[in-house]
Amino acid sequence: MARIRAVVPGMDGDYLLWLGDTNGQFSVKCFCMQVELQLYRVPTWVVLTYVRKIVPPKVVLFLSQAADNKIAVLVNLQRRGVAVDAEAACALCGQATESVAHLLLHCDFMWGLWCRVIHREGVAWCVPATVLGLLQEWEALRRGTDVSLWKVVPYALSWSVWLARNGLIFNGEEASMEAVWDIHLTRIFWWIKAFNQDCPYTLYDFMVQFREVRLGQQRRQTRVAEWTSPPHGS
Ligand SMILES: [Zn+2]
Repeated sequence: MARIRAVVPGMDGDYLLWLGDTNGQFSVKCFCMQVELQLYRVPTWVVLTYVRKIVPPKVVLFLSQAADNKIAVLVNLQRRGVAVDAEAACALCGQATESVAHLLLHCDFMWGLWCRVIHREGVAWCVPATVLGLLQEWEALRRGTDVSLWKVVPYALSWSVWLARNGLIFNGEEASMEAVWDIHLTRIFWWIKAFNQDCPYTLYDFMVQFREVRLGQQRRQTRVAEWTSPPHGS
């Protein structure tokens, strides 16, 4: 600072700032956090306040636990000492051991649904290794969908496939990608309507033209055509 002050006039009021904290004050705790972040690249992810207002708490909790690798899939049940069939495979595809990442990302069943979402945005992607990775990059994948709707898509899709998986395992109900796709859009519609009853869009809009839904607008934009009679004699 002394060397800088020697060549730059008028710096008497300047002082050193610790950039590792928002208040500019150095602390050992903050220093350790910065070092750990650099060393271990500890991933972080927080549930947005907007999401908490729209998505039911049990669904928020579910995806938070999934991001933390804590939902009750076969691998985690075995890890907890629960007696499950060690040879059992994913109920939806029957091709792999059911881990959190498999069920919610890499399973052919779920992969097909994610691809449908991503293709609707018109982008290409490489599926992340973990649910946490997906949530961290989710915002960057949006292209045309309303920003508020985009935030709740992972919740609706993950929860819908989880219920379909449970219905198949515990009740023998058929699980189809098409049914999960439809119910996740329906679920988003229910959540948005419950949050804002004045939302002018219909379930049909959510099902058929999801990318055209704009929650920031008061009224749905419709084309209005006015007919007038042709000039006499034409
Ligand atoms: Zn599977």
